[in-house]
Amino acid sequence: MASPQDELVELVDLVASFRAHLASRARQGLVGVPASPSPRKGVTGSPPTIAETMEAIFDDGQVPHGGHGLTALREEIGDCQRCKLSQGRKHIVFGVGSPEANLMFVGEAPGADEDEQGEPFVGAAGQLLTKMIKAMGYERSQVYICNILKCRPPQNRNPEDDEVVACSPFLRQQIAVVQPRVIVALGKFAAHYLCGENTPISRLRGTWRTYHEVPVMPTYHPAYLLRDESKKGEAWSDLKQVIARLTQIGAR
Ligand code: URA
Repeated sequence: MASPQDELVELVDLVASFRAHLASRARQGLVGVPASPSPRKGVTGSPPTIAETMEAIFDDGQVPHGGHGLTALREEIGDCQRCKLSQGRKHIVFGVGSPEANLMFVGEAPGADEDEQGEPFVGAAGQLLTKMIKAMGYERSQVYICNILKCRPPQNRNPEDDEVVACSPFLRQQIAVVQPRVIVALGKFAAHYLCGENTPISRLRGTWRTYHEVPVMPTYHPAYLLRDESKKGEAWSDLKQVIARLTQIGAR
């Protein structure tokens, strides 16, 4: 299996060739989404490589940025059976919000309410997240919200490595398509994944990191804030840093 470093190099190369491809398509005036995505290549029980998935989704002159790209990506995921979580799920919880959002929130995995409704962050933690988003001056529809895993782990257990390997390429592609200017990593799991380090969330939060050059602000998960309200002030100070950064770069 490729090392995380190899995967990173592969993705950076892909994004570069992808941008060149798009620029060339734009010069030719070619836009649009094919009626159905190309069949996924090389699938024999193991998850597709990033290259295979990117190729399957974005060949044939599709427009990747924004809504078309997300629609194509969701179609590519299909009735996903790439990992064992497909057995117990009710819905694939893909993502919600603006396909061109400047601000993206990434959580861990759907819980029971999200699995039931097919939308991320709609349960108690989700209601708190919605309040946090409004306090920042946004509606849910103006930001993009998703998770690392798109299916609910049984009894909300922690995601397992094979599940992350199978599902995380789709998060990478959601980020590539939406092109957020800032990502907020909600909680330990998302923060560790996006920041590529296992520093405790209590130390990681409030400190800027990057994910493929996109600034990432790790903060506490809203479910944790429901359990320990005394941490809300720290989370708010993290979000204020996000507001300041978006304002500074003219992306509010
Ligand atoms: N917790 C998460 O991490 N994501 C959700 O969508 C809901 C709860």
